[in-house]
Amino acid sequence: MDRRMLGIVLTLILPVMASAEAEDYRFPREPGTTKDGYPLPLTGIPITKTPVITRTPGAAVKKYPEHYVPGKESLADDEMRITACGSWGPAPMRIGQGASCLLVQLGNGNSFIFDIGGGTVGNLFALGVHPAELDKVFITHFHLDHVGGIFALFDAMGWARNTPLHVWGSSGYTPELGVTAFTENIRGAAEWHIQNKQSILPRGGMTIVPHEVDYSAFSLERPRQLAYDEDGVKIYAFPVIHALAGSMGYRLEWNGLSFVYTADSQPSTFEAEQGKGADVFIHEIFPSAEEFALYNHMPIQAAEGVMEEHTTPAELGRVYTIAKPRLGVGMHFTLDDNLIDPLFQRWSTTYDDPVLLMQDLTTINVTSDYIVVRQTRADLLAWPAPPPKPPEGLDMSTGEPSKAQRPAWLTATRLSKEP
Ligand SMILES: [Zn+2]
Ligand SMILES: [Zn+2]
Repeated sequence: MDRRMLGIVLTLILPVMASAEAEDYRFPREPGTTKDGYPLPLTGIPITKTPVITRTPGAAVKKYPEHYVPGKESLADDEMRITACGSWGPAPMRIGQGASCLLVQLGNGNSFIFDIGGGTVGNLFALGVHPAELDKVFITHFHLDHVGGIFALFDAMGWARNTPLHVWGSSGYTPELGVTAFTENIRGAAEWHIQNKQSILPRGGMTIVPHEVDYSAFSLERPRQLAYDEDGVKIYAFPVIHALAGSMGYRLEWNGLSFVYTADSQPSTFEAEQGKGADVFIHEIFPSAEEFALYNHMPIQAAEGVMEEHTTPAELGRVYTIAKPRLGVGMHFTLDDNLIDPLFQRWSTTYDDPVLLMQDLTTINVTSDYIVVRQTRADLLAWPAPPPKPPEGLDMSTGEPSKAQRPAWLTATRLSKEP
């Protein structure tokens, strides 16, 4: 083949190869549906029959690309984007589902993380936000499936977050069960890492600042507290019925849009009232105790005990019937092809407005006129996003070298450096 012919053939083949590789790489399963017509997980299609919801029937909707590709799509000034960096709950971990974590991005440039479960930080960093902006975490409760990724996020200090990590959470029933003790313990457990890095990297990012919500101050008369109030963004905390005292949900309000996240919670009229009229309401949802026992090889009594703390699809439908969100979302669900139809069948016994079952990297774009749900096509080998502007006024000083230096006799055996 002469060079000209080779050039023509390569021009034809290379784009096909590149796109085929991209598809296989990010969405590992072929598109397909359940018997009842719901998209299967991990196929690049969100698990919903209403991916587009308009405020008024037939209203115009911006034409979005089929998938959300971080870095390739800007957010309008008045738009909110919610992405699940992890969609699952109970341990053990799964490759295809990280534990609970949501990233909420607003058109004013603000980003907020809600829960930081294990196996989620890779997804989070792949969403095209500079690590320095991933510095605000709102924790619903301290079950490890909601906080297990905090070390990996804290480690972003090595990735150009030169300012503290801020963590909101409840004050706890007693101080050792609250967010201040939690952050001090995380910081303490990272002491070896920090003593090493503080003489190599800027120190500004090596602290965690707790922000306590006074759990003892909640009552029926004071159902919510303002936890965050900046740049026109208000985030309220409210208590939910889950495990120990201290579990909370959050309601974010900005620019006439609202997002509510309860994470783990038993169904209640109280939480339904806190979520009333939300644009997007994200709540846990569970399979039956029998299904949970079967798939987790667990005695039925243990599965029934787990279910005591959680919410069935029919119960969630009752919560959403009171709250009336524009989009009702179920999260923290063990995805499996065989569990999807039974889940939606049970959900539909009490609720027939738009619903979504969350999987990792499901992205929800929200405006006052419409809501659009897609899957994210994130680069598995994404580098951190570039900083939006050059860092300024940061603590670039480095600390004293640690006294815990390696023994000289060991270091002396190092191979000489290449010239
Ligand atoms: Zn959980
Ligand atoms: Zn929990």
